[in-house]
Amino acid sequence: MLSKSTEGLTLDETRAMVLDVAKAIIDAEPILTDADRALGDGDHGVGMQRGFAALIEAIQAENPSDLRELYQVAGNALLTTMGGASGVVFGSLFLVGGKTLQGATHFGSHELSHLLDRSLRDVMKRGGARPGDKTMIDALAPAAAAAKAAINAPLRESIVAVAAAAEAGKEASKEMIATMGRAKTFGAKCRGLPDAGAISVSIILNTMRDSIVS
Ligand code: ADP
Ligand code: MG
Repeated sequence: MLSKSTEGLTLDETRAMVLDVAKAIIDAEPILTDADRALGDGDHGVGMQRGFAALIEAIQAENPSDLRELYQVAGNALLTTMGGASGVVFGSLFLVGGKTLQGATHFGSHELSHLLDRSLRDVMKRGGARPGDKTMIDALAPAAAAAKAAINAPLRESIVAVAAAAEAGKEASKEMIATMGRAKTFGAKCRGLPDAGAISVSIILNTMRDSIVS
């Protein structure tokens, strides 16, 4: 159980939250595999499982001493073990987004907003996808917008809005027609199915909410 001070989470609480996220992604492997099998090559679940298992090991072995380092260790573990499009995408979410935590002593609503905003911009610049292309951006972009709108609210309120926005974005991705990656070969046939990466973003943010609000 987290102490949930009004300033946000301490380093230990943030570390516990990141480990909860990793466990949730590992447990979701069958869901992510099925989603990517329907619209891609089926490797998203196993790739995420491998990356987040490495993330847990790296955090336990390196015992990061501040928030910036915690996210750096996490992002590097994903980048170096996952490979493929999503290795860069989800590695950047932690590694590049985590750069905004330089000097932060607590993980609060400001930190959440800056992290999501920076990683969204980085993923869009690197991968070239835009909102509506049926990628993880369709969950991440509404989540970043919700975080910005709630930047002055307590973390336990902002994370509820952020997780709900990611969930709604994942649902909205069902009706989108993919223009990026392997799913684009499916054309209009991909209607009705959610994007695998958007499911992952939604799991990450919903688990953060559960960690913070429980
Ligand atoms: P791969 O596409 O290499 O098989 P994964 O199956 O692990 O990688 O991940 C696929 C997910 O990665 C997609 O569902 C999508 O959300 C995300 N993705 C792929 N390409 C991009 C991109 N250019 N920008 C943003 N997200 C992307
Ligand atoms: Mg794939």
